[in-house]
Amino acid sequence: MERILKNRNVKRKVLVVDDEMINREILGNMLAGEYDVAFAKNGREALDILRQQGGTFSLILLDLLMPVMDGETVLKDVRSDPMLSDIPVIVMTQEKDAEVDSIKAGADDFIKKPYNMPEVILARCERIIDLYEKKTIIDSAESDPLTGLYSGDFFFEYIRQLSQYIDAQMDAVVIDIEHFHLINEIYGRNEGDRILKTIASIISKRIEDGSGIACRSIADTFYVFHNAMDDYNDLLDAMIEEMGSLSLSPGHIRLRLGICRNVEKSETCEQWFDHAKLACDGLRRDYTRQVAYYDKDLNDRQLYQARLIHDIDSSIENHDFVVFFQPKYKIQGDTPKLGSAEALIRWKHPQLGMISPGDFIPLFEGNGLVQKIDRFVWEEAASNVAKWKKEFGVSVPVSVNVSRIDIYDPELEDRLQDILDRNGLTTSDLLLEITESAYSDNASRLIEVIEHLRKKGFRIEMDDFGSGYSSLNMLTTIPIDVLKMDMKFVSNMLKDEKSLKLCELVMDISRFLDVPVVAEGVEEKAQLDKLKSMGCQIIQGYYFSKPLPAGEFEELIRKEL
Ligand code: C2E
Ligand code: MG
Ligand code: MG
Repeated sequence: MERILKNRNVKRKVLVVDDEMINREILGNMLAGEYDVAFAKNGREALDILRQQGGTFSLILLDLLMPVMDGETVLKDVRSDPMLSDIPVIVMTQEKDAEVDSIKAGADDFIKKPYNMPEVILARCERIIDLYEKKTIIDSAESDPLTGLYSGDFFFEYIRQLSQYIDAQMDAVVIDIEHFHLINEIYGRNEGDRILKTIASIISKRIEDGSGIACRSIADTFYVFHNAMDDYNDLLDAMIEEMGSLSLSPGHIRLRLGICRNVEKSETCEQWFDHAKLACDGLRRDYTRQVAYYDKDLNDRQLYQARLIHDIDSSIENHDFVVFFQPKYKIQGDTPKLGSAEALIRWKHPQLGMISPGDFIPLFEGNGLVQKIDRFVWEEAASNVAKWKKEFGVSVPVSVNVSRIDIYDPELEDRLQDILDRNGLTTSDLLLEITESAYSDNASRLIEVIEHLRKKGFRIEMDDFGSGYSSLNMLTTIPIDVLKMDMKFVSNMLKDEKSLKLCELVMDISRFLDVPVVAEGVEEKAQLDKLKSMGCQIIQGYYFSKPLPAGEFEELIRKEL
């Protein structure tokens, strides 16, 4: 391969192997103008040089009769060594019989001694090199020079044609070596190549009965199109066993197999292997499995999520995200009174329609993008509160959700303060909801942040209380202003005794901490009455109102006033 990539103007390397110095000199002088010439005094030396510099030689000129190791042995060794076998060899001899024998043994041409026709010798060398390079180009289009398996392009062309004629169920298999670049770096490229060739030969042996075809796709990835098999763990085990023949312990080489079973004729060959690759990539960092099967539902979900991640910025820009407001009512008096609201994000995706935060918030929490959403919501919430203040002369405070990751933002405090300042608001206009599960994450960091925020005047509501695992001990150390009871207690409080007891427990804790409770998810009058009788002060739920667009919420304020 190295040779065909060489520029035409670059001098090819030729190895002259002859025990007689005079011959080496004559040939050297003849060739030096055209080629970069190296010399060896005998067969052993020649093999040493070749093994060190391997595929960089374009031609070997080989004397047959030499001490230490003769030319015939060199020829045999060269032809049986995959790293050297495609270097052309011209033998140099005086004996007629030897010429015929050496051609039979794999030489490409011969030159008669003594060397009295330099033009003929040069022409022969050039012709052989040229022939080999053309052949290598053709071979390399079809096959991978390192492993002898098909090349990627040819492989796909082949299975495209093949799959039109076969009715049998076929699997697309991707075999990948974990951390192969590290193997190359630690053990050297030659060792890496050896491993690749061994794996290729194991695969070749497996499919020589015609059960499949294979290629090396890129670097350390092999593709196999194979008759459907029940269990690929068997194949994996067999491969690991055979790899035991490598001097490296198989423990260093971890293979991963991704399989797309029973490929769909309606999809392209590339798609089959994309699916298998996806399954294979899913095994990265999963040390419990080495074989994975492509799962269409999972793929669809991943694609959907990738789409959401891709679209977040343009959607913020195009105002596809909208903030809704859900009222919270104070229920202590005879008639419930609007007290505040919670800002909740909605995504009106231009193609995918309305997407609920349950579908994208956990995804964006996982990759940090939720901060973009939160900051957008904080801004929107603040500007609306300011607008209502101006319009109605009263403040309807809004609670915004603060994600776990926001807690680690060193600029959180300044960011929030800046939003208030720009909108002419105070900390009593914007309340902060932090979900309970954040409290068990890194309690000391959270306490520090919350203490700072509270010192500034912000009020903190612990959201979804009861869903996480905060210990009672933590509750007494973490400063909070409001407990929001987890919605599932409320939904079930009239259905099962246990939920009711838990509601009562939350009420007890709130009395102990001396903070009010907001009950979320109240949908029925009976729930409201029960909660009121237990001492709950604030209610948020469909019973009063679903989350509303800003305009409708404004109407609600107007009515309430
Ligand atoms: P959350 O903060 O606990 O918000 C309350 C959720 O309960 C909202 O769901 C609300 O629509 C829903 N809900 C309120 N009353 C009822 C009711 O009576 N019945 C039922 N079945 N549901 C009710 P939503 O808007 O789908 O939001 C779900 C979660 O997504 C929120 O739970 C919050 O964790 C997250 N979320 C929403 N907006 C944001 C945001 O701007 N930032 C962050 N970080 N998270 C958000
Ligand atoms: Mg909330
Ligand atoms: Mg909640």
